[in-house]
Amino acid sequence: MHEATIAHLSEKLRDHKISSKELTTHFLARISRLDAKLNSFITITEREALAQAEVADARLKKGDTTPLTGIPIAHKDIFCTEGVKTSCGSLMLDNFISPYDATVTARLKSAGAVMLGKTNMDEFAMGSSNETSYYGLVRNPWNYEKVPGGSSGGSAAAVAARLASGATGTDTGGSIRQPAALTGITGLKPTYGRISRYGMVAFASSLDQAGTLTKTAEDAALMLQAMAGFDERDSTALQETVPDYLKAINGPWQKINIGIPSNFFDDGLDEENAELVRKAVTVFEKLGASIKEIHLENLHLSVPTYYVVASAEASSNLSRFDGVRFGHRAKEAKDLTELYMKTRGEGFGPEVKRRILTGTYVLSAGYYDAYYLQAQKVRQLISQDFARAFDDVDIIVGPTTPTPAFNIGQKTEDPIQMYLNDIYTIGANLAGLPALSIPCGFVENLPVGLQLIGPHLGEEVLLKAGHYYQKETDWHKQVPPVHED
Ligand code: GLN
Repeated sequence: MHEATIAHLSEKLRDHKISSKELTTHFLARISRLDAKLNSFITITEREALAQAEVADARLKKGDTTPLTGIPIAHKDIFCTEGVKTSCGSLMLDNFISPYDATVTARLKSAGAVMLGKTNMDEFAMGSSNETSYYGLVRNPWNYEKVPGGSSGGSAAAVAARLASGATGTDTGGSIRQPAALTGITGLKPTYGRISRYGMVAFASSLDQAGTLTKTAEDAALMLQAMAGFDERDSTALQETVPDYLKAINGPWQKINIGIPSNFFDDGLDEENAELVRKAVTVFEKLGASIKEIHLENLHLSVPTYYVVASAEASSNLSRFDGVRFGHRAKEAKDLTELYMKTRGEGFGPEVKRRILTGTYVLSAGYYDAYYLQAQKVRQLISQDFARAFDDVDIIVGPTTPTPAFNIGQKTEDPIQMYLNDIYTIGANLAGLPALSIPCGFVENLPVGLQLIGPHLGEEVLLKAGHYYQKETDWHKQVPPVHED
């Protein structure tokens, strides 16, 4: 049951071949048997899940369904969930029970999806390896000595280990695509604004975007369908109507033009990774795509630009955690200033503090022009590079990450090395574009991801390309040898 896709399970549920209760019980049992070492969940909501499964079964009986009715999924612990702890991977929110649902969780709930629990993540979504969580690191199901990627590492590990049918994630600089690539699953970061940010703990508001971690592009389409669309509670949510993604991906293949950025294949890219990406491109050629080499002029500036902009926004967003209104509060502070200092000193981990310090520095009066303003200008140039490229091509294809999963602890001492891991993913965030990572092979038993970047609101073409690729290949069907703990 756990190896089946959402699309497949959905059919079985609607044909009454299985019940949501059976399915939910099965996944809960897998989580309790297999997650102790993986550590992909922070909270398991067994009671709520079984209650939701019962409601879903009643809907299935009446025929009042969506493709997600009765499907057990997991939510990254960055999404507010009414009555359930929402920690964002931080001691700061360890005691925070959200009084309301995020739009993402509310929409999936009303579609009938069952929430199994909340997944582990880098603290406040800052990281590329899921080693900064207050709740401990997450392991890669393909090799327990390796990282699963981050920051949505818990969601990725849970889906890869078949502990949930699908999961939500967020992607500010690659946090859906990178862990999807390192764990051998499909990760979709939609266009900025396609999904509401309401109730999603803010990291860098101009970059943050919710998305999906699933086995296939088809499953991503099913989840996106339920999550996307305007929301008056998020002023940056797009007003555009939501297309029928399933219909789009199942339409006949149309000849597309694919751009391959030459500078995605620079020195930083592992040779074996590069080889698998090139091979994946030939699959599209066989489908009749034409391939063109392109050059994204300012791509090499994306990492420094991102770490200036994201840290600046984070330093501002995280100022709300002051120990006064909610979350952690330091004991025995003698005045308000000491309360702030102690609360924030205790509540945040080292990576979060590093971002706040960097962000405050680049926004300070003396350095604003030199760093923040400059970064905004370069961001514009990077967006223009993509816009020019999309005048000629329908999608851009390249690697998701420079290497397969690295060792636990390998990059924690050197933040710059960790940040460089995001080199291929960050561009899409800076430009607000949709991007998809799909599995395209293995290097020494570790999965490698292929990244597809689309134009503004190009989710249909991306998902369709991913779906057709997955019809031709079976990399996405490989399952890690998850051990009993
Ligand atoms: N690795 C990036 C960072 O640490 C991206 C994080 C994300 O997308 N949430 O900021």
